[in-house]
Amino acid sequence: MAEYSVFSLLKNSFSGNRDWKPAWRKPDPKPEYDVVIVGGGGHGLSTAYYLGKEHGLTNVAVLEKGWLGSGNIGRNTTIVRSNYLLPENSRFYEHSMKLWEGLSHDLNYNVMFSQRGILNLAHTPGQLDDFARRGNAMRHEGIDAELVVGAEAVRRMVPGLDVSANARFPIVGGLMQPRAGTARHDAVAWGYARAADRRGVDILENCEVTGFLREGDRVVGVTTTRGDIRARKVAVAVAGSTGRVMKLAGVDEMPIESHVLQAFVSESLKPVLHTVVTFGAGHLYASQSDKGGLVFGGDIDGYNSYAQRGNLPVVEDVASEFVAMFPGFSRVRLLRSWGGIMDMSMDGSPIITTGPLPGMYLNCGWCYGGFKATPASGWCFAHTIARDEPHPLNAAFTLDRFRRGILIDEKGVGATPRLH
Ligand SMILES: Cc1cc2nc3c(=O)[nH]c(=O)nc-3n(C[C@H](O)[C@H](O)[C@H](O)COP(=O)(O)OP(=O)(O)OC[C@H]3O[C@@H](n4cnc5c(N)ncnc54)[C@H](O)[C@@H]3O)c2cc1C
Repeated sequence: MAEYSVFSLLKNSFSGNRDWKPAWRKPDPKPEYDVVIVGGGGHGLSTAYYLGKEHGLTNVAVLEKGWLGSGNIGRNTTIVRSNYLLPENSRFYEHSMKLWEGLSHDLNYNVMFSQRGILNLAHTPGQLDDFARRGNAMRHEGIDAELVVGAEAVRRMVPGLDVSANARFPIVGGLMQPRAGTARHDAVAWGYARAADRRGVDILENCEVTGFLREGDRVVGVTTTRGDIRARKVAVAVAGSTGRVMKLAGVDEMPIESHVLQAFVSESLKPVLHTVVTFGAGHLYASQSDKGGLVFGGDIDGYNSYAQRGNLPVVEDVASEFVAMFPGFSRVRLLRSWGGIMDMSMDGSPIITTGPLPGMYLNCGWCYGGFKATPASGWCFAHTIARDEPHPLNAAFTLDRFRRGILIDEKGVGATPRLH
């Protein structure tokens, strides 16, 4: 497969760009693999890539029921950050950040990672104190964090924000992570797919897993819409479909709720928003894409659902928060909105583990934050699958922590998935 470079760009421009090869093959399923990964989202694809790159396992298939990018990997608001308080989360997400920083080179694919920073706004002195604590915890872990004190300092960073004293939600400062930013979500899926394919991984699209092959307790393969496939190891990374897929394996109860999360993009504007900004009085995050659209989102819809579309009350709620923050954007036209199915865990932290059945491995519970986790999630899951034990970075992300009551509750709101 061709290396992407300035030379291949030039060469193809002379032939009218008619000679580009498909970025990955469309193979037929083999009857058996060493590892089968269910779910061709960001996490399934990155796992396949790191299985090959880090562990030399390439007799691997990724099974995707639709087309690559049809799930949350192609539906998110593309925010990448590692500004967490709890050490289990901050170490894991900082590892992800370091992988992001070299990802375009590593994959030989431009994922358009743009470290434009993220600013979490504080609206009360108490919230700013809380941010100081989080910033200190981050620095203690070697992660970049800067406390921004005062409305004027915020105004200089984000000119369109309403920082006036009589604003609907007055701003007193914020917490900045300069190395945070955004990446192009489809490119991440395509880049990992291409790089995994180059190492020999079979990417099987339109291949829905409909059941699991069992020998006694052990999972020894899957039944699919393209026939049965046996495997020494079966890894599940289906994000919002975790409950459904695990039920097919006879695991009826999972500490996961599936909810719709919507996102929005406006018409294109000249550059006006230079960092990612989050609103601290409600729940809203916004950035401007490289094409100029304002990309933003807020809370999940208030009910459980497997539908990849949302309802109007959340549209109104999110738009009103956006306009309260940026009154000047009230006349910008909304271009599109869409929804994805979120795998909300009980404590807001993920699960990357062996089991719960022999021969099976599980990756889920990404809530709002799985896009930024894509590199580290695949890296850690590949380690867990290859070595049959977790890496220290994901050792805490077990399934049985919910049974044992050892939650990793970043927000401190308890076992309430809709609040994480
Ligand atoms: C609107 C929205 C905004 C978001 N914003 C952000 C953000 O700004 N930053 C951030 O970090 N995270 C964000 N997220 C979360 C992030 O996108 C997800 O946590 C992450 O993409 C989930 O992992 P994935 O990419 O593997 O999931 P997916 O892409 O959903 O992959 C799972 C795949 O499994 C497939 N599948 C399901 N069942 C089967 C089956 N039976 N057989 C075969 N395949 C199956 C699905 O078709 C799907 O392609 C957002 C999510 C949404 C919806």
